[in-house]
Amino acid sequence: MPELPEVETTVRGLERILKGRRIARVEARRPDLRRALPVDLGQRLTGSIVVDLDRRAKYGLVGTDRGDSLVFHLGMSGHWRVDPTEVGKHDHFIIETDEGRRVALNDPRRFGSLDLVRTDQLSSWALFAALGPEPLAITAEELKARLAGRSASIKLLLLDQRIIAGLGNIYVCEALFRAGIHPRRAGGSVSLGRLKRLVPAIHDVLAEAIAAGGSTLRDFASPDGELGYFSKSFAVYGRDGQPCAGGGTVRRIVQGGRSTFYCPHCQR
Ligand SMILES: [Zn+2]
Repeated sequence: MPELPEVETTVRGLERILKGRRIARVEARRPDLRRALPVDLGQRLTGSIVVDLDRRAKYGLVGTDRGDSLVFHLGMSGHWRVDPTEVGKHDHFIIETDEGRRVALNDPRRFGSLDLVRTDQLSSWALFAALGPEPLAITAEELKARLAGRSASIKLLLLDQRIIAGLGNIYVCEALFRAGIHPRRAGGSVSLGRLKRLVPAIHDVLAEAIAAGGSTLRDFASPDGELGYFSKSFAVYGRDGQPCAGGGTVRRIVQGGRSTFYCPHCQR
């Protein structure tokens, strides 16, 4: 499943192709993904110039000179194909630039979404209004205030998009391991001192993954490149039963219906 680093890498990859270019043609090859596509998508995008690309939580944003932003979410299986030699069954939405370059949103499971939102209204848009701060921008003090009084586990609270936006299961596990915090600890009981280790750990795990994804961007000059998927290595995620770097053994537990990987020796 694409997480924040994949979305960031995707946005940076799309930026190289779309930024400053006029959208010559768009093609919606089906009326819906997870929900219906805006009916005026083609009309509003065609002929516009892409002025800005950005990311909010796990959403990518393509801003045009008409004041619209195309907001995409990759769902479970979505990715953009760059200059596909032929259009495939799962290429649901295509943008072609005035240079003749094409990007195709490919999403076999169709849990992704495409919306068109006025750029100056993005912060109050229903799906964005309740989102917490960006994990790459949040401070320990801010996180402390958001966790205050909460008895739910720190693991589940970090996955709550209203507390911190766009942080997924993998990076929560990795950041808690680096900060030495037990995933079952009550969120409100984590001291500011420990949050001052956790917040840089969150920044670092995401920045390292984005850098790993960025290094794969070079490959997207070739046809049929797929933006946003790259191999990563993890300290605890997916390593149940294997030794951790600190001398313990990685364990898997289930919290909120999802796997948590942690080390009982290193995390308290
Ligand atoms: Zn350990």
